[in-house]
Amino acid sequence: MKNKKTDISELGEFGLINHISKPFKTVNKSTVKGIGDDGAILDYKGKQLVVTTDLLTEGVHFNLMYVPLKHLGYKAVVVNLSDVCAMNAIPKQITVSLALSGKFSVEAVDELYSGIQLACDKYSVDLIGGDTTSSITGLTISVTALGEVEKADIVYRSGAKPNDLLCVTGDLGGAYMGLQLLERENEVFKVDENMKPQLDGYAYILERQLKPEARLDIVKALKQMGVKPTSMIDISDGLSSEIHHLCENSKVGCSIYEDKIAMDYQTRAMAEEMNINPLVAALNGGEDYELLFTIDMKDFEKVKNDPDITVIGHMTDFSEGINLVTVAGTSIPLEAQGWNHRK
Ligand code: ADP
Ligand code: MG
Repeated sequence: MKNKKTDISELGEFGLINHISKPFKTVNKSTVKGIGDDGAILDYKGKQLVVTTDLLTEGVHFNLMYVPLKHLGYKAVVVNLSDVCAMNAIPKQITVSLALSGKFSVEAVDELYSGIQLACDKYSVDLIGGDTTSSITGLTISVTALGEVEKADIVYRSGAKPNDLLCVTGDLGGAYMGLQLLERENEVFKVDENMKPQLDGYAYILERQLKPEARLDIVKALKQMGVKPTSMIDISDGLSSEIHHLCENSKVGCSIYEDKIAMDYQTRAMAEEMNINPLVAALNGGEDYELLFTIDMKDFEKVKNDPDITVIGHMTDFSEGINLVTVAGTSIPLEAQGWNHRK
């Protein structure tokens, strides 16, 4: 029954936690004790532990007018797993903390947790705890992710050297154009509730926005190839802003080439429809959750045939600054305009 709404008070706090946690089974050896005591117990057997956390608030980071709860749950987990991957680590556990206002029923919480569970299953991650509380308005969700990495494999933002190659996975700008599309259609709907959203033909960019993935596949592939990046970061705020982070932390400069930046057909088409320069979407859009990393030149042969990895430039001396070489061949300073200011 889709429309049944059970008040959370019918279950009570402990009833709700039991209800939430029942479908979750742990799969990782490092999870000694998950949900159900005052704390979880983990055994990382000499490996290094990565911890990362994110807090998302309704109305600031997501809009439930067009973001389904299941997708929100999935994405809230994935963005944290992406941070673990960006340390070259393997995600293993998450905790999920919620503040819920009275408008959320047990069924709504179930929707949210079905997305969380989908992400846990896909990435073989254990839900090991969390906290549940009430809020005056709206939903707040905080996810903490833990992961493991051998000390020798850790990759920081700070290891890039001049002449290293700058690589990016997948394609960029799609999540941003997906968001623009969802916001446009939501505005139309607010004016006339009978208007059906026009989303046909844009499944890919909508998925990029609503159901992003963490590039755990790349972390594993690089390991397989015997390539350890010299520095790495995930693209949450947009390529240009992340390049600035790598360069500042590594004390290097960088040149990237406009014609190397991969964009999907739908990203370009939607940008054109909305009079947005697709390059701006790729450079400043954010939320693509691709990995941006540098490798030593000697590793180029190993990565060059991977269709998911593109070399978009190279690191230079710090004094040369951060530059974009346009299709026309002119070199211009690359401004960092992430979407941080919005959040
Ligand atoms: P405490 O009062 O000690 O904080 P809780 O009653 O809040 O304990 O939590 C009991 C157990 O349920 C703990 O293992 C906690 O981590 C887990 N838990 C609480 N809320 C959630 C949630 N929203 N999602 C997953 N696990 C949760
Ligand atoms: Mg608690």
